[in-house]
Amino acid sequence: MIGLVIVSHSARLAEGICELAAQVGQGRVRLAAAGGTSDPEQPFGTDAFKVLEAIESVSGGGVLIFMDLGSAVLSAETALEMLPEDRRAQVRLCPGPVVEAAVAAASLAAAGAPFEEIAAAARLPPETEAFRPPPEAFERRVRVANPLGLHARPAARLVRLARRFDARVSVENLTRRRGPADASHIGGLLELGARAGDELAIHASGREAPAALDALARFLAEGGGEAGRPAVPTVPEGAHEGDLRGIPASPGIAIGPLVRLRPAVSGGAAPSAGDPEAERLRLEKAIEAARQETRALHEWAVAHAGEDEAGIFDAQLLFLEDERLLEEASRLVREARRPAEAAFEAAARELAGRLAALDDEYLRSRAADVADAAGRVLRGLTGVSAPESLDRPAILAAPDLTPSDLKELGARRLLGLCLEASGPGAHSVILARAMGIPAVVGLGPLLARVSEGTTVALDGETGAVWIAPTENQVRKLEQRRERWLAGRTAAEQERLKPAVTRDGRRIRVVANIGSVEAAAEAVASGAEGVGVLRTEFLFLGRAEPPGEDEQAAAYRAVADCLQGRPLVIRTLDIGGDKPAGYASPGGEPNPFLGLRGLRLSLLRRDLLRTQLRAILRAAEDYPVAALLPMVSSVGEVRQVRRELEGLCRGPAALPKLGVMIEVPAAVAMARELAREADFFSLGTNDLAQYVMAADRTNPHVAALADPLEPAVLRMVHQAALSAREAGIDVTFCGELAADPLAAAVLVGLGIDEFSVSPPAIAGLKQAIRSASAAEGECLARRALALDSAAAVRRLLAAR
Ligand code: PEP
Ligand code: MG
Repeated sequence: MIGLVIVSHSARLAEGICELAAQVGQGRVRLAAAGGTSDPEQPFGTDAFKVLEAIESVSGGGVLIFMDLGSAVLSAETALEMLPEDRRAQVRLCPGPVVEAAVAAASLAAAGAPFEEIAAAARLPPETEAFRPPPEAFERRVRVANPLGLHARPAARLVRLARRFDARVSVENLTRRRGPADASHIGGLLELGARAGDELAIHASGREAPAALDALARFLAEGGGEAGRPAVPTVPEGAHEGDLRGIPASPGIAIGPLVRLRPAVSGGAAPSAGDPEAERLRLEKAIEAARQETRALHEWAVAHAGEDEAGIFDAQLLFLEDERLLEEASRLVREARRPAEAAFEAAARELAGRLAALDDEYLRSRAADVADAAGRVLRGLTGVSAPESLDRPAILAAPDLTPSDLKELGARRLLGLCLEASGPGAHSVILARAMGIPAVVGLGPLLARVSEGTTVALDGETGAVWIAPTENQVRKLEQRRERWLAGRTAAEQERLKPAVTRDGRRIRVVANIGSVEAAAEAVASGAEGVGVLRTEFLFLGRAEPPGEDEQAAAYRAVADCLQGRPLVIRTLDIGGDKPAGYASPGGEPNPFLGLRGLRLSLLRRDLLRTQLRAILRAAEDYPVAALLPMVSSVGEVRQVRRELEGLCRGPAALPKLGVMIEVPAAVAMARELAREADFFSLGTNDLAQYVMAADRTNPHVAALADPLEPAVLRMVHQAALSAREAGIDVTFCGELAADPLAAAVLVGLGIDEFSVSPPAIAGLKQAIRSASAAEGECLARRALALDSAAAVRRLLAAR
């Protein structure tokens, strides 16, 4: 039996058409209405997710989709893209007058016509009394210039323009052979389905026909009021305003005076090529000072943006320790007798230049890191100051920005960022995002013409930028900013409250941390405990491993900050990309497949026992559990359990023992592991890389390690199911949980505890509160059936 889906801006209209078609279809068609939105405050509109549901509810045979106005087509197309390819082949979109086409299709179905015949008939606009231009009309041809075609807004403007003239005007889409449509009615214009580049014929008759033709042709040729705006694929429909359009990089609305980044000011010390030995010492001192500054920046970033984002400064520290860079700078001082600053600048520029020349966004952003880190050394050598901090709340315009500039500028006064060059993946932009500063990037040199102090507004979700907005625009933008801030404030204010889905499922939110200091931050951010204490911070960057006392003191300090909340201490996870010289063998051809995590601990029992003893000591007074990273077999867990039992005073003092599910073998053996473990922790940062066989630190393949790949989601689902069957808890601790879009689907996959970095907690709790577990389950079912991470993202975005 064929299925008909009616997509309309109005729920009642969609249902009414279904009733009509059901009457005609005499029980030989399945019908589903996908009308209106799910937003009670704005019920009129269309929703791809609803369309998808409707398609699924009538699936079985072929499905025809009928749509009313412009965005109904978009929603239907989006829903179609979300269907797996084999099902998509059985679905057809039927543009044209929705009532007539649906009724015609239903009557053909009732008469027993085959699907293809019905589809063909339904796609041809049925014969209606089409608008015909009078024979004496003038004609003008023009191509649609704006990238998004004649969608609702330009069509509405066109109608208003046409109505100004004493003339009868019609428009015909010659490219798609649709129309003509009366230009004074929006419906007909939208049905022309005019896309960018389509050729239109405008006919006009009456007293002002020539003037009307001129005006309309110019309006269309100039882009229907939208010319000059590049099509940004990520911009949601409904946001095509603004004077400039850049790449949306950090959500939120900002309005304020434009201020340019003041260049660093020279301290006037002219570089001089003195005694090479003195220059070498000067260079060493400046590098050491820059390292210290970078460590301080790291701490600042941990406090403002969280540990993951602060990793940017870890990378910079590595550049400042890069032997090739340092050797080259020393060589230039020694052999070419260059002053320290010139030598270091040349060596750093060479390294940055090599990276910047690569055709790869990720590596290019590394070049910016080299320049940022090198800038710190050079400032130390030349006495040049950091950029001036803002003296009033403002929107900053700059060609580009480094992560350290962001700190110097003073986050409190920085209302928003307009960058000419950076991409959304630049580290300063990642930091801005984590700090909640709205940003639009990739604006090109257009901003250079705007003078300082001009009021500027930006929408970091759509990429729109307004220069000197009108009073009316400012009022509207301020209302939007207030709504956005209120949402954020509400999330912040509610951060300490539990997260419960709309349909009453309580989801716990705990924190991933990697230092003692971060524990207090976690509690203040609303964490209900710590889900992963990454203990590597105690082991890295030193010549000897920490002893039992040092470790026990650190674990107790963290537990103390948590004030009775649970603490999960993960045993050492070095190896892979985090080698520790005293423990890792080095020289492994595939370090991520080598002696990493638990494998190393089992080889170095001395390290394991010391750490377990320290954990046991903390567990004497606090609710502490141990967690094992990189588990790939049941035997490994048994070995640790034996060690724990051997070290423990008695079974009553045994802390819970958890297993990280982060390699495919652990998923395959999840049932068996669930018998050995007290809980699971799903680490999709690693699971994604091991499932997809794509090293997460290798820029050439890292994008493949996408945790939204259905392959990864299926693994998450399987592991969560095994945990549930065995009656053990399961926490999701991969970074994916910090993406509010993903919360509902993860809840639907059976997750009831998340562990994320502290700055993500408020947003995640808010996302959970706005989701329902039932809807999450429905989303999860769909996501698991999709065939790519991109399709899953579309599904989540459509929601
Ligand atoms: C993970 O792999 O998802 C995880 C949380 O661990 P890490 O990122 O520390 O490897
Ligand atoms: Mg991991």
